[in-house]
Amino acid sequence: MGVVMKFGGTSVADPDAITRLIGIVRHQRQRSNGRAPVVVVSALGGVTDQLVAVAHMAEEGESDPAAAALHALIDRHVAVATAITSESRTAVLAEVKRELDELKSLVHALAVLREVSPRSLDAVLAAGEIVSSRIVAAALADHGVPSVWVDARTVLATDAEHTGAAPDMIETCERARERVAPASGAGSVVVLGGFIGATSNGVTTTLGRGGSDYSAAIFGACLGAEEIQIWTDVDGMLTADPRIVPQPRVVPQLTFAEASELAYFGAKVLHPSTILPAVAKNIPVRILNSRRPESPGTRITAEGRPAEGQLAAIACKRDVTVIDITSTRMLMAHGFLRRLFEVFERFKTAVDVVTTSEVSVSVTVDDTRRLEAILDSLRHFAEASCEREMAIICAVGENLRADPTLFARAVTALDRVPLRLVSQAASRRNITFVLRDADVPHAMMRLHETFF
Ligand code: ADP
Ligand code: ASP
Ligand code: MG
Repeated sequence: MGVVMKFGGTSVADPDAITRLIGIVRHQRQRSNGRAPVVVVSALGGVTDQLVAVAHMAEEGESDPAAAALHALIDRHVAVATAITSESRTAVLAEVKRELDELKSLVHALAVLREVSPRSLDAVLAAGEIVSSRIVAAALADHGVPSVWVDARTVLATDAEHTGAAPDMIETCERARERVAPASGAGSVVVLGGFIGATSNGVTTTLGRGGSDYSAAIFGACLGAEEIQIWTDVDGMLTADPRIVPQPRVVPQLTFAEASELAYFGAKVLHPSTILPAVAKNIPVRILNSRRPESPGTRITAEGRPAEGQLAAIACKRDVTVIDITSTRMLMAHGFLRRLFEVFERFKTAVDVVTTSEVSVSVTVDDTRRLEAILDSLRHFAEASCEREMAIICAVGENLRADPTLFARAVTALDRVPLRLVSQAASRRNITFVLRDADVPHAMMRLHETFF
């Protein structure tokens, strides 16, 4: 089949953005000789955050402010739907209002109970993608691009890990071939909401924040797409987070492995799981700017870029916690590491960076919900302490393997920054530095100046 095109929140934020999207999709459809692209969209920019706020109000029992916030959301969608000029606007707005009215009843019930479970939160958040995708499907048809809306929850099957569900690829692929491929093959653009799915019992789930990229990759893998395009508000993967380093450069090409590392260590432009389905089917991923569709973006493939150059990019993950664990028996008894990691496993907390010495182990975590319980459990067999407000900087590049001077240059660039931990993974594709969060801007600038 053709390509899967995912449009993020800013790429569907207002009528102008929708108009640009239509142009981009039309152009792609023409280029692929009638094999229509599959379009995956996020909620309108900012809407998921607003829905999180609504859920929070419900939890506090603030029914009226929650209802007011939902009314504002209806108005926002009505305004965006002005991108649709024909009568179909009335029909789609009726659907949008029905959806958001249902949400209002749900939120009212949650506010009475003052309880929002992960399962209820998923039901609240999913509304954003359901209504945005309906509007986009109608807008495409309205502008002469044949399209159909498909409820993503009838395609993307997941487990029941609410707020961070994992796809059931076999079931999802079967349904995608049944419900998406035929229309697409016949030239209709199938539009689905990203981020959302459902359990085998039909209960709504979400893939975790930023998960629309992941949805697009899942559909792409299932349909054997020739490319997965991530349309966003920057020119591609940049050499550093533009919110921290002014004027980073675009990275033209990356390997799957480099992109995974960058996404995992904070390059928000790509959800960390996006690359997995693409790798499984060896489908290139492209990051593109919906405001500047002519710019080439970043292409992510198995081979990546030519061997010239040095590092690919730097990313950072802020507000992490370092846990230091010291064996109380001086030397690490055998079985110590197993016991230690079992604690993290028991509390379902992922560890990012690990360094060890003869007597102690340091790890970083970014999910601190179960921190106290973890420390208590560790203290049964070790001394354990933690330090908050730390950060990880990750320098990534396939060339780190071949050129050992890169490591030295990176460490030298940070000679004035107090580093807490430094590690280079076995893949030798990245160097990670753990440092105080407050030092991140300075350290990122230093590294960026050194390498780019
Ligand atoms: P979307 O709504 O399209 O999914 P996101 O906000 O999730 O967009 O991701 C795009 C944003 O990611 C950019 O606007 C940028 O601020 C941020 N970002 C962080 N690190 C990087 C990076 N290395 N390259 C590109 N963008 C980055
Ligand atoms: N709308 C969801 C979020 O804001 C998913 C996404 O945009 O990828 O997290
Ligand atoms: Mg995103």
